[in-house]
Amino acid sequence: MLSQSISEIKGVGEKFEEHLNDLGLFTVEDLLFYFPFRYDSYETKPLTELAHNEKATIEGKVASEPSLSYFGRKKSRLTFTLQVEQFAVKAVMFNRAFAKKQLNPGDTVTITGKWDQQRLQITVSQFKKGEAKSQEPIQPVYQLKEGVALQRLRKIIKTALDEYGDEVPEILPEDLQLSYKLPDRTSAIKQMHYPETRILLKHAKRRFIYEEFLLFQLKMQILRKQHREATTGNAQEYDNDKLTSFVQSLPFELTQAQKRSLAEILKDMKSPHRMNRLLQGDVGSGKTAVAAIALYASITSGKQGSLMVPTEILAEQHHHSLKELFNGRAKVALLTGSIKGKRRKEILESIQKGEIDILIGTHALIQDEVHFKDLGFVIVDEQHRFGVNQRRALRDKGLNPDVLFMTATPIPRTLAITAFGDMDVSVIDEMPAGRKPVETYWVKGQMTERVLSFIQKEIDKGHQAYVICPLIEESDQLDIQNAVELYEQLSTVYEPDIPVGLMHGRLHNDEKEQVMQQFANNELKVLVSTTVVEVGVNVPNATVMVIYDAERFGLSQLHQLRGRVGRGSEQSYCILLADPKGDVGKERMRIMTETSDGFELSEQDLKLRGPGDFFGKKQSGMPEFKVGDMVHDYRALETARKDAAEMIFNESLDRDERYRSLKEKVYEDERLLGDVLD
Ligand code: ADP
Ligand code: MG
Repeated sequence: MLSQSISEIKGVGEKFEEHLNDLGLFTVEDLLFYFPFRYDSYETKPLTELAHNEKATIEGKVASEPSLSYFGRKKSRLTFTLQVEQFAVKAVMFNRAFAKKQLNPGDTVTITGKWDQQRLQITVSQFKKGEAKSQEPIQPVYQLKEGVALQRLRKIIKTALDEYGDEVPEILPEDLQLSYKLPDRTSAIKQMHYPETRILLKHAKRRFIYEEFLLFQLKMQILRKQHREATTGNAQEYDNDKLTSFVQSLPFELTQAQKRSLAEILKDMKSPHRMNRLLQGDVGSGKTAVAAIALYASITSGKQGSLMVPTEILAEQHHHSLKELFNGRAKVALLTGSIKGKRRKEILESIQKGEIDILIGTHALIQDEVHFKDLGFVIVDEQHRFGVNQRRALRDKGLNPDVLFMTATPIPRTLAITAFGDMDVSVIDEMPAGRKPVETYWVKGQMTERVLSFIQKEIDKGHQAYVICPLIEESDQLDIQNAVELYEQLSTVYEPDIPVGLMHGRLHNDEKEQVMQQFANNELKVLVSTTVVEVGVNVPNATVMVIYDAERFGLSQLHQLRGRVGRGSEQSYCILLADPKGDVGKERMRIMTETSDGFELSEQDLKLRGPGDFFGKKQSGMPEFKVGDMVHDYRALETARKDAAEMIFNESLDRDERYRSLKEKVYEDERLLGDVLD
């Protein structure tokens, strides 16, 4: 039986069992599904096709008497020349003195080892006398731990495969296997460990990738359906007339994409289901406007609304712009960490009494002292900056309020459908009319002076500029020093006729607010800043964004920064000062200059960085897959999502006999379902 303990397998003693347990392997099934992370094959390649440091197999003739030397305590080194094609390769073997006798000039040997391209040298890990056979088996390599040696693990897994391999049950219905041409589970699992050919291995992997994604997506879709059907939410009876009149009062007409997203949000609000929706849109696409209308709808249904944002600057800005948009139609208040004493107490009281309609703030909103009278609608902006617990805490402030998450980091579809598979997604994929794309240039550091005079020209036209210096993760102190130095330098360049301002994270909040206000009022022409201006700041008269050491930023972050300009009707510019060392850095700069579409850019970013790095490790919340790779295998991921959604929403997983084993598998692991939930 697959559920039997690994101790039932021949050759697994008590001690070894413990070591295997450390690797998370307890049952026979665990062992069978402990897949290799790579494979060694002994197919030889011509020397010219080998990459530096690659593990390779080469075949040649021993061309010199091997010479043996000893070093350290009982350590030995054997070297000899190997004639491979027309090259003389140096072979080095450690601690295998015995091989000296076996290797004689003129012998043909097949050697596997690490290839040093520069020295034409191979450090031998395995050797065999004779020619390489073309039909050498492909050998599995597993992740190991102390006490678990590769050879021993291989043997145990082989034994388990021979004895129990045929018991592995099929869980995919036949029609799915057929339509995707997937091998059955029993033969696929054998190919995963001991592939007969590379092609068969590829198909086995394809099968398990799909299976893994499908199981994950089924769980996500079950959650999504539960959200949808739970009637524990509140059906918000908003006032359509008031809403229409509010929309008409706005200084612009909504774009089609805004209208569509708004309709989706309002539909959720009206329904008794609890909304769990992500609103995605590039910087400047008009998410805030949509959020304001939705908040207003909530108020007309007699509820309170709340908007949580990641920084105080942003909270202040939103407070300001919402007040302006509402123009007296709603009572809006701000709550941040720096609002203290009597004022704080007053705000807290009015929230509890329901005198405040909309509360905007940072995570100060989720502290215990904050009590709403009747919170019906919650918006979390830049949601990936908050942890799951923070988001949940805010949601728990109301009685199942509708929740809208917003993000200006366009999340690649690939990630959105995995990480947020249980959410509904609205996308604003259209910019308000009349926007000109920001012209972006990549400039080497030595051109700084010309950049500075370019800024001067724009200022002469009446415009303003941001100058960003990078954030050095490890040192807050250095950051600020950086910013201060740049500020002083630019002040001497431009002052007195051009006032320069300075902004960084260590300023007091009232100082920050004052600087932002001065910049917004065009009293400051140049704003030197760290990345604190990254999100949401809106000064339409600013037309230049200069970013120092741009190679240190990720693409999405550069795009966010660039989004601070191009918000008015004038042509705007983004100048990337960068001297990237590697190809990836150069590629990033090139992509920035060529791509203004945030979604496309984030796809590219994802490709360059991999999903783990995309949101930063801590807040990623990204699921981890054993076989599949979200980026590389995104097609399989999409297919799995589509199939899963169908099975869940037409209830075939529940009803259709064909899906019985699959269903059992999905519900088998309750623990996993819990992981996904959080
Ligand atoms: P986001 O929050 O998506 O970055 P905002 O909602 O801040 O974008 O909108 C950016 C700017 O565009 C704001 O000045 C806003 O008033 C304006 N805006 C929003 N929607 C429209 C529209 N449909 N037409 C014209 N301007 C708009
Ligand atoms: Mg609702």
